[in-house]
Amino acid sequence: MPDRVLRAAADHARRHGIGMLDLVPRDLPAEQALDLIRNVDPRAYREDRFGMGRGAGYAVLVDEEGMARSGIDPRGGLDAGEMGEATARVRLHVDTADMAVAPFPGTDRTAQRRAWLRSQALDPPPALTLPRTLYGTGGAWLLVLTGPLIELWTGLGLVLLYCLIPYLIFVGTPLRPADLHRAAWLRPVRTPLTIWRTLRAPRSRWERRQIERREEARARYAAEIAAGVERRLGERRPDCPWCGSLDLVRHLVARDTVQAKPGRFRLDRCRGCGHVFQNPRLTPEGLDFYDRDVCDGLGDLSAELIFSSAAEDCLRRARLAERFTAPRRWLDVGTGKGHFCRVARTVFPDTEFDGLDVGDGVEDAARRGWIDHAYRSSFLDVGPDLIGRYDMISMHRYLERTPDPLAELDLAAKILEPGGHLLIETPDPQCPMARLLRGLWPPYRPPRSLHMIPPGNLKRALEIRGFQILAEQRRGPRRGTDVASAAAALVDLIGPDAERPWQGAAPPGPARHVRALTAQLLAVPLVGLGMVADLLTLPLQRGSGDAYLLIARKIDDSRPVPAVAEP
Ligand SMILES: [Zn+2]
Repeated sequence: MPDRVLRAAADHARRHGIGMLDLVPRDLPAEQALDLIRNVDPRAYREDRFGMGRGAGYAVLVDEEGMARSGIDPRGGLDAGEMGEATARVRLHVDTADMAVAPFPGTDRTAQRRAWLRSQALDPPPALTLPRTLYGTGGAWLLVLTGPLIELWTGLGLVLLYCLIPYLIFVGTPLRPADLHRAAWLRPVRTPLTIWRTLRAPRSRWERRQIERREEARARYAAEIAAGVERRLGERRPDCPWCGSLDLVRHLVARDTVQAKPGRFRLDRCRGCGHVFQNPRLTPEGLDFYDRDVCDGLGDLSAELIFSSAAEDCLRRARLAERFTAPRRWLDVGTGKGHFCRVARTVFPDTEFDGLDVGDGVEDAARRGWIDHAYRSSFLDVGPDLIGRYDMISMHRYLERTPDPLAELDLAAKILEPGGHLLIETPDPQCPMARLLRGLWPPYRPPRSLHMIPPGNLKRALEIRGFQILAEQRRGPRRGTDVASAAAALVDLIGPDAERPWQGAAPPGPARHVRALTAQLLAVPLVGLGMVADLLTLPLQRGSGDAYLLIARKIDDSRPVPAVAEP
């Protein structure tokens, strides 16, 4: 990259206060430019304060403070996968990011495309990024090429349009792909060739490192699985953990829809109070087995992507709290990597945010400056020391994962002084989608959810503990993706990703790859149908999202509390 280009880019970033600037070669080859345009809307990227980093994979300017916080070594010589991951991650440490097209040469990188797409995994679920891109381009190609066989002239018109698309796409952008004419007119030939080269390319250093990490994990998983899954379940209990009733009924039996780890898990429902719970329940050792590599280890990058794309949910929670209070000190219990606090700080700039979690993500959150103080512990262990220190406690998607949710509520009630607030979001096992999708309903996350609490039960439990419910909000269906997600989970159960270390004691052979590939082919119609079903049922789901959000106030007798009802 010429020095003057670099200097001009740095000036531009400084002038506009941009923390991270991705430099895109003006003559970026057409296939890379199409990938970039397919996956990134530059304006949305600029305006998104909380997403992951995206770019073209050539050069990124990052402000020194952000770079230092990220812990990423700023150097050249990264391969496509390393560059993609570094670009994605470094964005978490700067406030603003943008892209700029600059005059420096692009190069043919088809051989690195697979690693690039995998490392950037631009939308959740990240595992589907590569197949989706390849199916998308391959499917369009097949449709266009069979057109002339069905209706000659219309078909040829379609082929012509297919060739012209690269010209049309780049109109109005500063991109001038050097190979535009070739890419356009040879597109019917080049598309399958590019797909072939993407799939057949030799593994990059980044991909080899991913495989090494998986193989390291494989031995440990193999030993744990050989020792037996039943060992990870405790005793079956005869009574409802919420109300003590003995009138229990089998609710459903589910398999692990998050990672397809082995095992079957039974959920019971109490006929007395409607509480749904795992029975028998996983032991702490069992929970550790099923939680491993979901948000940490092998699943770390995917989890960052998923949480970063959920900023809207975090904003909605913070805005609900804003209607009732402006807390001084806020404790987020089950904070994970602190993504909620990162977003909520923008709504409450003067509030001190502390985070609590058992995983090491909470320490990352403190390093990133998203929380002021990290407690790496379980809430029940550290909680008694926190009495009187917070005027707001939040628990988002947390209570359902705890072994004893009522004890968690007892402790929250003890910590908060009168006038303090409690903000809780948890899935509603009585919502229509839960009934329809059963074990595939995404919020069950079997076997990671131990308790599913109907809203009426939670409200009563809070009132008994001296809280007044100020408002209840229904989360809208997650952009209507429940059925599609359930279909994707089903595909994953039929033909799990062959490379996952818990799928077998030995690295995957041809048979496991064929099974996974068959499932992926099945994914296209199945997930497609799911998406249609999501669209069709969206009007029916309105006002009955998969989770409910409650804000409650510890009653302070000296202040009248307004009752607010929410639709
Ligand atoms: Zn009960």
